[in-house]
Amino acid sequence: MSADISTPEIPDPKATDPAGELIRFDNVTKRFGKNTVLDDLCFSVRPGKHVTLIGPSGSGKTTILRLLMTLVKPDEGVITINGDRLFPADSKHVREVRKNIGMVFQQFNLFPNMNVLRNVTEAPVKVLGLSKDEAEERGRELLDLVGLGDRCGAKPTQLSGGQQQRVAIARALAMRPKILLLDEVTSALDPELVAGVLDVLRDIARTTDITMLCVTHEMNFARDISDDVLMFDAGKVIESGPPEKIFSEPEHERTREFLGAVL
Ligand code: ADP
Repeated sequence: MSADISTPEIPDPKATDPAGELIRFDNVTKRFGKNTVLDDLCFSVRPGKHVTLIGPSGSGKTTILRLLMTLVKPDEGVITINGDRLFPADSKHVREVRKNIGMVFQQFNLFPNMNVLRNVTEAPVKVLGLSKDEAEERGRELLDLVGLGDRCGAKPTQLSGGQQQRVAIARALAMRPKILLLDEVTSALDPELVAGVLDVLRDIARTTDITMLCVTHEMNFARDISDDVLMFDAGKVIESGPPEKIFSEPEHERTREFLGAVL
């Protein structure tokens, strides 16, 4: 019998942290003055999962996304991405971590003086060092994906709000993020434009392995795309689980009240 001389594959310790979690909040507290916005918060997200944050206005959901973008710092606790601590953060470290994260906001914040294609190619050229041709090829693919392949030459002001938001989604994806943060991306849109944006996000959730963390008031959308739903109240997760449980059999009275008001 011959000996097994193959070398076992050594797992890449950076692929995920030992617990297989891509994002992890451990006992995170965030205060603004005397206002405790996140209170000893613990949760984690595994790679490729789609997690939706729901709950009343002011319960701290957006602050979580802002912490992940290192736009604000926690007062206590540890946040890790891929096993790397986010804070304390020097600027080089922050740049590296942020390369993995794309964010789409309520306001689209497109560059008004650039056409649609350039909005999508600017950062890949400047930050990732792609050639203009490579960035444009990928940019056109992404604009096709969001249904705007024929509007590459348009300026943002020539587009509807829904179309601008779809460009913003393509722009975020152009940076090849591992994590996509979505902060109430349809809240600023006229009602008839909401469905088109949500359909694009459903497609992305279905066809890519990007981890998504999503703050939304669109409960049907949350139900469709989520692996897990976290219900927030006053800076804490009061209930979490798969959407079928949270939406159909909520355990917590506050969850029932909240869903009763928004559904
Ligand atoms: P949500 O997304 O659930 O509506 P937020 O995370 O936006 O909640 O806000 C939670 C609380 O933190 C709110 O009371 C809000 O006023 C407060 N807050 C958020 N950002 C700041 C800030 N930069 N300075 C002071 N207070 C803030």
